[in-house]
Amino acid sequence: MIKDYYQILGVDRDASEDEIKRAFRDLSKKYHPDLNKTKEAEEKFKEINEAYSVLSDKRKKAEYDNYLKYGFKDNFVGDNFGGFGINFGFEDIFKDIFGFDFNIGNVGMKKKYQPLIVNITLSFEDTYFGCDKKVKYSRKNKCKNCDGTGSQSKSRKKCSKCAGSGYYTEARGRNMFIKTTCPFCYGSGQEEPQDKCKHCDGTGAVNETLEVSVHFPPGIKPNDGVAISNKGHYYNDGQYSDLYVRVARVINNTNYDRIDDNLVLYYDVDYLDVLKNNNIITVKHIDGKEYKIDISSNSRKSFEPYIVPHRGFTKNSNFVVFINIKFPKIKKEENIKKIIELFE
Ligand SMILES: [Zn+2]
Ligand SMILES: [Zn+2]
Repeated sequence: MIKDYYQILGVDRDASEDEIKRAFRDLSKKYHPDLNKTKEAEEKFKEINEAYSVLSDKRKKAEYDNYLKYGFKDNFVGDNFGGFGINFGFEDIFKDIFGFDFNIGNVGMKKKYQPLIVNITLSFEDTYFGCDKKVKYSRKNKCKNCDGTGSQSKSRKKCSKCAGSGYYTEARGRNMFIKTTCPFCYGSGQEEPQDKCKHCDGTGAVNETLEVSVHFPPGIKPNDGVAISNKGHYYNDGQYSDLYVRVARVINNTNYDRIDDNLVLYYDVDYLDVLKNNNIITVKHIDGKEYKIDISSNSRKSFEPYIVPHRGFTKNSNFVVFINIKFPKIKKEENIKKIIELFE
C-alpha cells in the first residue's frame, strides 16, 4: 500500500509547489524531534518527510500522480523507488527550506555506532538457569574536563562541509544518491577544536573501567549476548554506543550436554544390573529432580532415548536421556561360554 502523501501533508491533490512547501514547513516545525519529544511526533515527522521528498520532486511527483490516477505501476515501488523513503535527498530538503537550522544528524537517521563487544565465559549451569554477573570492562567515556567536546573552552563548531550532519549525499546519475560519512569531520559533524582539551587530547573521550550488572536469561546460547543501551564508548557527537556482552565460552563441568535447546544426559548402565533384572534406574535432572526409567526390554525399544517433555533449556525443548549399557571386554573363550550359560 502506498500512502496518500497529499493527505499526510494536508493539501489538495492540485496543490501548487508553494502550497506543498508551506504545508511541509508548518508540519515539520510542529513535529520536528528537536521541538516535539513525543513518540508519535517522530513517526509523523518521518512520514511528512517521506511525503515531501516525493511531492517536491517533479519527476517523482509525476510518477506518483500517475499511480494515483491509473493505479499501481509495477516499478513504482521496490528498488526503483528506493529513493522514496526518508533518506532521499533529506539534507537537500532542509538546505532548501530551513538553511540548516536544525541538526539533521538527529533526525530519524541518527548515526548508529557499532556496539562495544565484551566477551565473557559462563558455566553450563549459568546458561541453564540464567544468572546475574558483574562484568568489568574498559571503554571510552565522556571527558569531564571538556564535557566531551574535546575543546578546552567547551565550544565546537559544526562541520561546515556537512553542516553538522556527519553525512555527505552525493548525486550519482539521475536517480541515485549515495550517502557517505563526511570526509572532513569523519562523521562527527564537528570541526576540529582550536583549543584542544589537555585531558583527552581533543578527542572528548577518556578511558575508564566500568562494572555493570548483567542479567543472562535462562537458556542463553553460546555466542548470544545481552545488549545494554548506551554503555559502550562515548563519541564526540554526544552519543554512546551500546554494550554487547557476549557469551563467548561455556565451561561444562557437568554430566549434561546441550543439543539445540535440549538438555541431554548420557547415562551408563552396568550390564550386570541389566542381567540381575535391576531394571528401574533413577536419573537426575540438572535442577535435582529425579526421574525413574524402566529400562527392561519389554517397556522400551533399545536405543530409544527417554524423553521428559518441556524440561530442556526452553519450554519447547526436552530433557533427553540416552541410556548406554556398558559391557565389559570379555577376553577368554571360557568366560563367554559361562555368560551364554547364564541365559540358557
Ligand atoms: Zn577533554
Ligand atoms: Zn562533516
